[in-house]
Amino acid sequence: MLSTLKPRPADKILELMALYRDDPRDTKIDLGVGIYKNADGETPVMRAVKAAEKQLWETETTKKYTALSGDPAYGDAMKSLVLADSVDHARVGAIATPGGTGAIRQAFELAKLANPDVTVWTSNPTWPNHVSIIKFMGLKNESYAYFDEASCTVDFDAMMESLKGVKAGDLVLLHGCCHNPTGANLTLEQYGLVADLIIEKGATALVDIAYQGFGDGLEEDAAATRLLASKLPELLVAASCSKNFGIYRERTGCLMAMSETAEQTPVTQGTLNFLNRQNYSFPPDHGARLVTMILNDDVLKADWMAELEEVRLGMLGLRQQLADELKRLTNSDRFDFIAGHRGMFSRIGATPEEVMKIREDFGIYMVGDSRMNIAGLNSKTVPLLAEAVAKICK
Ligand code: PMP
Repeated sequence: MLSTLKPRPADKILELMALYRDDPRDTKIDLGVGIYKNADGETPVMRAVKAAEKQLWETETTKKYTALSGDPAYGDAMKSLVLADSVDHARVGAIATPGGTGAIRQAFELAKLANPDVTVWTSNPTWPNHVSIIKFMGLKNESYAYFDEASCTVDFDAMMESLKGVKAGDLVLLHGCCHNPTGANLTLEQYGLVADLIIEKGATALVDIAYQGFGDGLEEDAAATRLLASKLPELLVAASCSKNFGIYRERTGCLMAMSETAEQTPVTQGTLNFLNRQNYSFPPDHGARLVTMILNDDVLKADWMAELEEVRLGMLGLRQQLADELKRLTNSDRFDFIAGHRGMFSRIGATPEEVMKIREDFGIYMVGDSRMNIAGLNSKTVPLLAEAVAKICK
C-alpha cells in the first residue's frame, strides 16, 4: 500500500528554515518562520505560563479524560477572551482543538456537515495552510481580492467586488486581526460592510484569530470578531493560543460556533463534540488548562497581559524603526506601510527575484512572496535589512 504513495512537495517555509540553517554566514537573519522571537532571537516560555505549569504540577491529581469538548471551563474562558460580551454566551458552542489549525480544520468539517456543497472563500493571499486544508478535504475554494501589491495595503473595493460572487451557504474566511501573510488589515468600518454583505448573501463567516494581542492590543484585536458576532446571525471563530501565550508546541486552539438562537446551541455543541470524537476523540488538555488557569487568576492574567504588551510594543517599535530607516535611505515614503501594518508579518511587495537576491547577497531570509517576520529583527539588524531592501528593491 505504502509503495503507491507519491512524494509531496516540501513546505516552502520549512524548506526556507533548512536553507537558513545551512547558511554559514554569521550575519544571517531569519525572517521566515512564523514564531515570535525576542531581541536575542529566543522564544521564551512566558512567565505566567511557567507559573501556571508549576501550580499545575503541584495540584493536578489525575490525568483522566476531560470531556469531548475539552474542559468546558476552557471554552468559557476563550469565549470571554475573544467574544467578551458581544454575544450571549448561551448561543456559543466551543471545543478545544489541537492548535488554531485544529480549530480551522474542525470549522471546515462543521461547514461540510451543514452544507456538503459549501465553497470556502479565502483572501488572496492568505495563510497557505487554509487553502491546502480546504483542497485536501475536497471542498471548493474561491479567493477574494485583498492585497494591493503596489501600495501594500488592502484593496477594499476589489475585495467587495469579488465577494459579490458569494452564494447562500458559503463560508467566508476572514482574518480577525494581524493578517497573515500581508500585515494589512481591514478597518472596523470595513469589517462592518463585509458583515452586511455576508448577511445579504446568506453566507456564514469564519474568523481565524491567531494573533490577538499582537496588533493594537488584546481588546482592540478582538474588536472585529466582536463586531461580526454582534451583527451576524451565525459565526464561526477559530482561535489559536500558540502566539499570544507562546505555547506553540502544546497545540492549544478553540473553535467557537455561534448559533442564531440559544435553543440551537445544544445541537451545535453536540455536533462539535461529535467532530472531536471522529477526528481525535478528546482534545489535548495541557495548554488549554494553562490558558484557563491564567485567564481565571487575576495575578497570572495581569502578568501575562504585561508580558504580551511588551511583545506587542517591541514589534511596533521595530516596524517604526524599519519604516524610518527606509524613508531615510530611499528618500521616499514608499515603505511607510510597514509602520501601518500590524502583527508579526509584513509583505513588502518585493519580487521573488529581489527576495532571492536579498537572501544571496545579505543572508537575509524572508518567504518568497516577500513576507517578513518582524519579530525576527532587533534594533541592530533593522539597519542591515533596510540597507538590503533599499539597495535591491527598485
Ligand atoms: N491561522 C493563522 C493565520 C496562522 O498564522 C496560524 C499559525 N501560523 C494559525 C492559524 C494556526 O496556528 P497553530 O495551529 O499553531 O495554533
